[in-house]
This record gives sequence, structure tokens and C-alpha cells, in this order.
Amino acid sequence: MTNSTSQNWQVKDEQYVWHAMKPYNPKATSIIQKSEGAWITDIDGKRYLDAMSGLWCVNVGYGREELAKAAYDQLLENAYTPLSVGHVPAIELSEKISELLGDDYVVFYSNSGSEANETAFKIARQYHQQKGHTNRTKFISRYRAYHGSTMGALAATGQAQRKYKYEPLAPGFVHVAPPDAYRANEDHITEPTALPSVQAIENVITWEMSDTIAGVILEPIITGGGVIMPHENYLRGVKKVCEKHGALLIVDEVICGFGRTGKAFGFQNYGIQPDIVTMAKGLTSAYMPLSATAVRREIYEAFIGSEEYDFFRHVNTFGGSPAACAVALKNIEIMERENLFVRSEELGAILHAELQERLKDHPHVGNIRGKGLLIGIELVSDKNSKAPLDVSAVNKVISLCKEQGVIIGKNGVTVAGFNNVLTLAPPLIISSAEKDLIVEKLTHALHELLPQGGNE
Ligand code: PMP
Repeated sequence: MTNSTSQNWQVKDEQYVWHAMKPYNPKATSIIQKSEGAWITDIDGKRYLDAMSGLWCVNVGYGREELAKAAYDQLLENAYTPLSVGHVPAIELSEKISELLGDDYVVFYSNSGSEANETAFKIARQYHQQKGHTNRTKFISRYRAYHGSTMGALAATGQAQRKYKYEPLAPGFVHVAPPDAYRANEDHITEPTALPSVQAIENVITWEMSDTIAGVILEPIITGGGVIMPHENYLRGVKKVCEKHGALLIVDEVICGFGRTGKAFGFQNYGIQPDIVTMAKGLTSAYMPLSATAVRREIYEAFIGSEEYDFFRHVNTFGGSPAACAVALKNIEIMERENLFVRSEELGAILHAELQERLKDHPHVGNIRGKGLLIGIELVSDKNSKAPLDVSAVNKVISLCKEQGVIIGKNGVTVAGFNNVLTLAPPLIISSAEKDLIVEKLTHALHELLPQGGNE
């Protein structure tokens, strides 16, 4: 039951706030008032277990006093210093990020995942220029991947909707098919560069002329495109191909980073070291807007000694603000103290196994996959053909879960009819009992709404 105060807020919300993805479904929005741990409470007092941690990012959970205090203390101590000047939180954070990345990186700060990727593209292009390789301007990315909303990041994005209204996008982005362990059978191939999904990248590099390629951008696991798992050797293969052709490997860790896949960074599941790593969301567990583009020292060093008008031309007012860096440092401290990367790996494996056990015989559950507390459940109308389940049926499952107090996500949208992957990415601090609740409600909704049969 809504009360009149909440109705007033709802009316004003609809009148004045342009939400992401509004107005296609204005009634989809709810107004959240309070959040704690893994739970959010709306303005009518209804509580939900947030199995998507906001938008995949509140990794340490809501309501962490330590994070609020880190921001408060830093705002009083020194509210603002632009990053053309130094400050201690940025120095400490950069050293910490480099340590977590497991090699020697230098860090550039900005404000969103999109901007971290824009920054990566600009750094890569200018790096090649500084090295005298002036033709190297193009990037390869994959269909189904999401890399952001700004013109360059949208051009890198491989989801067809990017084309609806915004062309011309930034030129110089070429797409290849993603690896998809569920739909492409590459299991028997052991040599990384022999994987067809890796060869697809090398073929494009060759056809585009390898000396025109600045870099390849990828997420370790495509998240927003439907939790698409690569063959375990895929990243190794892509890295080898990049090295062979002089292209930089840019890894987008905006979602996979900071424990989501059971390691500090997603690429660490696959035994490679990227040239450039972009990160955002989980860096502060979304308590502050902050993103970062980390580059191997050798890349940074190519910029040293540039002329006054030839420096790296990306200046932003808020990137790496002292309070945001202080919150990020505290966030990482919490994750390490509470062993959350390991918790994600272990609890994720249990959640995965339980879903597998409960849903393996469900006629519409084609595939359950993921790493750590990142899990995708691909719904199909037929397990043999793997034809995707109609989106209206997928939506009903999500709505029933929400009615029963559990928020789950849906990903994988393409024009080819895929919008059929239920997604779980809860805060890494969820308890075993909360994990059980997710399994129970999701299993119930799937059995209730899709007992058998097709897209009815
Ligand atoms: N990269 C990936 C993989 C993302 O999922 C997102 C956002 N969902 C972005 C980049 C863009 O981040 P932001 O929304 O902070 O611009």
C-alpha cells in the first residue's frame, strides 16, 4: 500500500527526473529511501534483497559507516585539489591499485567507467604516436560488450542499440564476434591462438592492416552483454595476438574488478597481464564517483619529455578528488580485511553449485555460468536448439522475484533476439542465509512461471 507522501514523491519523480531508460517504461522506477548491507528499502517501506548490488557495484554492501567517515574526514581536511597538483590520497591509492594489479602501473583518474575507457583510447593512440607509429589509431572490440555511453565508449560498445540514434559515433572501432563457451564449442582446443574466437581477432587485425591497430579492448567476462564466458585460454590467446601485432591490450574491469569474479581483477582468472586496465564502479563500491585508467609504466614513459602543447590532453575537474580517493582506499582496506575477494570466489562457487543442482533439469534453463559472485542464467525456449526464451517470459520471472523481495538483473540484449540472461551480482558481503533466499526465490519464480513448454 502506498501512502500519500510516497505518492507525492512518485508524481514529482515522474514530472521532473529523467531516469536512465525512461521514458520507455516510466512506471518501472521505484524510489529508494534507505539501504543497509545487501538490502534496499523503498519509500513505502518494502524491503528488497539486492542481488544486483545496485548496478553491479556496491561490493562491500550499503551503509558502511567507515566509508562515510572517510569521505567526511577528507572533505574537512582538504576538500579539493585538482590532479595537476598532488595529494596524498591519490598517491596512496595509485600505489595500492598498482599492487593489486600485480605489476608496475601508473594511474590516471576520471569520473566514470565510460570516461576511463575514453581515456584508455586516447592514451593508446597517443602512445603509438609518441613511438612514431602514426597509423595506429583503430580499436577492436567485441559484439555484445558494453563499454559506456560517451561517443568513443559507445563506439566500442558492441550492442546494436548503440546505432539507433547516435551515429556517427567516433570512428575507428571494429567489432568481432565474442567468445561464447555456451554456444561455440571450443573446448577441445588447447593452443590459445588456435581458438576460432582468437583467430577472429587476428583475422580482423590482418584485414584492417596490422600497423593501423592501436589496441584491443575487452572485458574478461562480458557482463552486461549476458555474462558471456570465454574459453579459459581465450585471454591468453588474445594477449599473444596483440603482442605479435603491436596492439595494446586494454582490459575493461569496470564490473569484473574489485572482487566480482573472485579475484581483485577479472583478468587474474586467466593468467595474463594487460597493458591498460580501466576500472570504476567497485573501486569505491559506488560510494563516490571515481574511475581509473592504469597503464604499464613503459606506456607512461613514452609520454615523458613531451613538449608543452604535446602532453596527454585529458584534463578533468573532479577525477581523483581527495575524498573519492580516500573512500576508494578505505573500500579496498575493507575488502582486504574482510577477505571479500576470497569470499566472492567461495560463496559464488556454492551459489553456482546450488543453482545448478536445483535448476539443471528445468526445461528453460539452458546454461548457468559465471565466476565468483557473478552469475548468469541463460533462459531458452528449447535446450537443444538453444533458442533464446522470449523476453516477456524472462521479464515475468524478474517481476515475480521482485514481488517476492529479491532484485535480480537481466542482460544480454541484442537485436538477434537475445535478452534472456538472468543475472546475479549481489554485494560480496551477503550472508549464507541471504544467498539461500536468492536461490529459493529464483527457483520458485522459474518453476512457477515456466513449468515447461515454450514462450507462452
Ligand atoms: N564498462 C563496463 C563493462 C560497464 O558495465 C559500464 C557500465 N555499466 C561501463 C564501462 C561504463 O561505466 P559508467 O556507467 O560508470 O560510465
